[in-house]
Amino acid sequence: MAYENRLLTALPPGERLRLATRCEHVTIPKGTVLYEAGDPVQYAYFPTHGLLSRLAITPNGDAIEVAMVGSEGFIGLSIVLHSEATSYRIVAQLATAAVRVRAEILRAELGRSSALHHALLRYAHDVLSETARSLVCHRFHSSSQRLSRWLLGAGDRVGSDTLDLTHECLAHVLGIPRTAVTEAAVVLQDAGHIWYRHGHIIIKNRLKLRMAACACYRATDRGDARVRVAS
Ligand SMILES: [Zn+2]
Repeated sequence: MAYENRLLTALPPGERLRLATRCEHVTIPKGTVLYEAGDPVQYAYFPTHGLLSRLAITPNGDAIEVAMVGSEGFIGLSIVLHSEATSYRIVAQLATAAVRVRAEILRAELGRSSALHHALLRYAHDVLSETARSLVCHRFHSSSQRLSRWLLGAGDRVGSDTLDLTHECLAHVLGIPRTAVTEAAVVLQDAGHIWYRHGHIIIKNRLKLRMAACACYRATDRGDARVRVAS
């Protein structure tokens, strides 16, 4: 099984090949902090498998996820938007494979490839929309609705209904106490939507979980976010 990044696979063949010769494949262990907010962005990362989070951080160090990133996206928006540093903490929520390219090389390629420039700006727009949606979601939707949405979005991105995630991780990305994660997970498990034990989650009934999720899932997450290319 081979995995690819959708932004890169959508490029015209010549431009994709030119960029590919300047990229390197990396694996990012679960829990790795790729960037802290304010860090200079030396590399852009295009995930081919796994899951990364963009986390907004308070001055006290509290964090909440504003967007998740899988093989439909990339890390390095500040390069496209002409900023030297990232505004977010970037964390690997699951073990992730990616291709990375140095920032100065990506900047040069953006000047040469209108297709690449257009694709990454369009993705930047999608991330801004998802960030705004996350704010609305956190304010107006229940913990069980938000947990349902998050599990569906994560499952879409990794192409699996099995997710190795702890309560602590879920509390972190959802910005709620661990006790609230437990309560929400119990509701979903008792309803038969998921199975949960010791950091191991299985989505048992995707259709029912979609019905339990808030409308934000349908508004910003795409069921076709899975990328799994047979080799
Ligand atoms: Zn919501």
